[in-house]
Amino acid sequence: MSNELSDKVAIVTGGASGIGRASVETFLAEGARVVIADINRELGESVAAELGPDALFKHTDVADSEQLADLVAFTVESFGGLHVMFNNAGIPTAMRGNFLDDDFADFDRIMAVDLLGVIRGTQHAARHMAANGGGSIINTTSIGGVQGGTGEFAYRAAKAGVIHFTKCAAIDLGRYNVRVNTIAPGAIPTPILGTATAHLPDSDSAVRQLRAVMKSIRPLDREGSPTDIAHAAVYLASERSAYVTGTVLPVDGGITAGLAGNA
Ligand code: NAD
Repeated sequence: MSNELSDKVAIVTGGASGIGRASVETFLAEGARVVIADINRELGESVAAELGPDALFKHTDVADSEQLADLVAFTVESFGGLHVMFNNAGIPTAMRGNFLDDDFADFDRIMAVDLLGVIRGTQHAARHMAANGGGSIINTTSIGGVQGGTGEFAYRAAKAGVIHFTKCAAIDLGRYNVRVNTIAPGAIPTPILGTATAHLPDSDSAVRQLRAVMKSIRPLDREGSPTDIAHAAVYLASERSAYVTGTVLPVDGGITAGLAGNA
């Protein structure tokens, strides 16, 4: 590691698990101090305790704007500033497959967490950053927000919204030296894949099937890991990306490079 983030203070939402946890660990290894914001208190507290004094936990539901404001205030109070906001927390739509039969029971929650949570997280972080010389905001979308597909209509719509919002926020916040970018992960083996399929009679086989489909359309011959996403986040968080804003960075082994026709 090369101390790409020394002197930086970061928030990682959804930092207790999967991509978020890998990002917390990688940010710490690069010299940052990090607040883990997660709705899962037990896991978040244990991860923070394991990672040492440069990692703190703040229980947060990103669907709640007041809790996001408290999160930013807690971070500034604890570590003296905020330079990087990684709006990464997300929940999947239960995969159903048939649009005509979908009751969209989870639509409001998906939008509140996956889209409005990102918008509010950006707003609260940017208020601090704009008044303090700037910063970097990174939002997690998905290849499902870049490409169409079946079975996850609300999730894909929310993630597509994250992409468009990111571009709009980058335009609005550029004058304050606040950069806003988004990462689009491909299918990464984390607990979220099991959450998306938990309602199916055989969740494990549905996850296996999804991973096999991804393998068949992926140019790179290996599955991605949470750390692959974390490395992209380090780049967007660091001064190496000082002239980069309003972009969508797929980290997907090449899936969105144009092979959709083969899927
Ligand atoms: P994960 O389930 O391992 O981690 C998600 C974390 O978010 C969990 O710790 C969970 O407790 C937390 N969380 C959920 N709702 C929250 C809320 N309301 N407030 C605060 N925290 C909340 O999943 P992951 O794969 O690491 O997902 C991270 C992000 O990456 C999500 O936005 C997801 O949509 C996106 N993503 C994942 C994949 C993939 O294949 N894993 C692909 C594309 C995009």
